[in-house]
Amino acid sequence: MIKIKSTSELEIMRENASILRNILDKVTSRTEPGVTTQELDSYAENLIHDVDGRPAFKNYRGFPSSLCTSLNEEIVHGIPSSRELETGDLLSLDIGIERNGLFADFATTVPVGEVSEKAMSLIEATDEALTKGIEQVTVGNRIGDISHVIGSFVSEEGYHVVKEFVGHGIGRDMHEDPQIPNYGEPDTGKRIEEGMVFCIEPMVKLDDKKVEVLEDGWTTVTADRDISAHFEGMVTATEYGPEVLVRGGL
Ligand code: MG
Repeated sequence: MIKIKSTSELEIMRENASILRNILDKVTSRTEPGVTTQELDSYAENLIHDVDGRPAFKNYRGFPSSLCTSLNEEIVHGIPSSRELETGDLLSLDIGIERNGLFADFATTVPVGEVSEKAMSLIEATDEALTKGIEQVTVGNRIGDISHVIGSFVSEEGYHVVKEFVGHGIGRDMHEDPQIPNYGEPDTGKRIEEGMVFCIEPMVKLDDKKVEVLEDGWTTVTADRDISAHFEGMVTATEYGPEVLVRGGL
């Protein structure tokens, strides 16, 4: 069942989303060669505590950190470590907060210093795929419409979406119904109603193979160990169309 948010719940979710935007902006301003992903994680965690929030990912099913830091071939759920960022890295940062009983969650991919043209094209396509998905969040559309535009745009660009992980509803839980795959058929799935809030999160890679999960049980990597990108945005359906609460982007 997809939960409809009340006006007051939406107010808090807007505020949380905007707070989380500020926090991730501060973190991304520190993503430069020589910085470790652990340092970024501690910084993010302190910033979340400063606003009386709780890091939503920390201890979620045993996840050890406040940030997911996924580098290059890592697609999502990368665990912060003592590895230093290097020029040319592609870093996906995913962050979540619970504050006043409601969640916010979004992700962005950051080029570290100068990156290859191949990497830039991949990030641009993934960013655009998120934009296209968000545009479908209008009352009367169906969840499959979001999935379909993302999947078809990504294939037209010559890339492949990750099929093993999905976007989701969000509210009093971080992961609520519905699941939002990054591929699918138009005009299928539940109808979108005013007051629903979705996290849409295209994850894009170069190969068409199944992803692999490393021995740590979290870090998800491409089968070909080539690069991938991930953007996530939180969006609600209003009578005027999609309202983006927060989104990652270039
Ligand atoms: Mg999410």
